[in-house]
Amino acid sequence: MQRYDLVLRGSRVLDPANSFDSVSDIGIRAGLVEAISDRMPESETDRSIDLSGLWAIPGQIDTHAHVAGMSRTVDPAIGYRMLARAGTTTVLDMGGTGDNLINGLNRKGAGLNVAGLLALVPGLTIPSDSPSKGEIATTVSGALRQGCIGVKILGGYHPFSSETTADIVSECNQQNAYVAFHIGTKDSGSHLGGLREIPDIVGDGRLHVCHVNSYCRGVIERPEEECVEAISIMKDMRGQLNTEVYHAIPNGTNGSCDREGNVIANVPRNCLQAKNYSPTFDGMKAAILDGYASVIQQKGDDISYVKGSEALKLYESSKTRIGMSFPVNLPASAFSLTTAKNSDGEFIVDAVSTDGGSHPRNIAIQSTMSLVKFGAISPLEMSKKLSLTPSRMLGLKNKGHFTEGADADITVIDPVSGEPVMSFVAGNAIMANGKILGTGGTLLVTSAAERKAEKSGIPFQVIDLGQSKLYKGF
Ligand SMILES: [Zn+2]
Repeated sequence: MQRYDLVLRGSRVLDPANSFDSVSDIGIRAGLVEAISDRMPESETDRSIDLSGLWAIPGQIDTHAHVAGMSRTVDPAIGYRMLARAGTTTVLDMGGTGDNLINGLNRKGAGLNVAGLLALVPGLTIPSDSPSKGEIATTVSGALRQGCIGVKILGGYHPFSSETTADIVSECNQQNAYVAFHIGTKDSGSHLGGLREIPDIVGDGRLHVCHVNSYCRGVIERPEEECVEAISIMKDMRGQLNTEVYHAIPNGTNGSCDREGNVIANVPRNCLQAKNYSPTFDGMKAAILDGYASVIQQKGDDISYVKGSEALKLYESSKTRIGMSFPVNLPASAFSLTTAKNSDGEFIVDAVSTDGGSHPRNIAIQSTMSLVKFGAISPLEMSKKLSLTPSRMLGLKNKGHFTEGADADITVIDPVSGEPVMSFVAGNAIMANGKILGTGGTLLVTSAAERKAEKSGIPFQVIDLGQSKLYKGF
């Protein structure tokens, strides 16, 4: 028997956990990294892939994407295919249900590992917007049992009071459940004002703060001042927060209006008002026709933005219940948040995410590669932001690095184009040159969902969030 099932030859291997940056061969056996060395003898394997001129990082982990949500106008599970094409190997779904996760993997899975969070929607997944402590506890334990690893608080859409938000965070912390927060409470909003509440809401607890870039769009102060303040809040709470930023300029939201013709959610209202449109049905129609607001549309196995009169037709025929996007994210904010470091030279923001998946903005690899080309971060730091720290955020001890015995999850990048060209999960290619080769996937669940995962028939892995950066600190 030969030593390796597969050898990936001659790529520049970027493994920040081992401070390793060198042109090498990667030997894979039984889905694991068996060895990394200068030159592996031909006799030790029957299968080699020549990756000379390319870079290999531990499989990219997207800590904020959407593949299991509750959209009525697109199939979120298509996000698996879009993420696979984007070079992702593991994804944290930012808000859906356990059943959507399992069902979507069966239908549209592309071989990725996936962990999900239960979206807290009052009246649907949590009894009301002012739940009792008992109801919160039941909701969190129910989330774990149904196959999610925790919950997502959707403060930009379904805000709770600051007090209830704090109760949810604290209950998750007690149950060792993951808890992510799209900032915003009934007492603040989905902007820097909401971020200012975080120290009080979290206390001495733990929290994943979603897409910090989206609170630095200049709603409260000048954007550069908002970045400075956001960085200072995160610096003070080091060890308590998991954080990510995404780089795409378009955001993702919805256009839903109430019976009086007012746009309902906080996020699209902010977007409209930022350009002096009224936060109403008429304001939204004007923003669509002017090309400021786009509508998200599914065509086959892809989801893209539609503009102008075609978008208006979709908006009206969906009776406003449709995914939308505004070009409101500021590249300067994304840049300063991504590159900020403390006095020890450690990054303030943990990860580059996409807030993509079924939203067409899965550009984390390309955008982070352009920061490398710009000289703002090193290749090893790119690998750290895209793989190593995300693996720690989730407690995935066998991912995010190339130590012998690690999972052979690998993303291959063309350094000239900055594009992902190939990716592997457990030694199997799931994407090559944009073509999806993977099917199904692996569920990442806590021990509370073992029975549910077994019943689903989908391969699963039990993770221990007690070992994650969120709960253990690093
Ligand atoms: Zn999101």
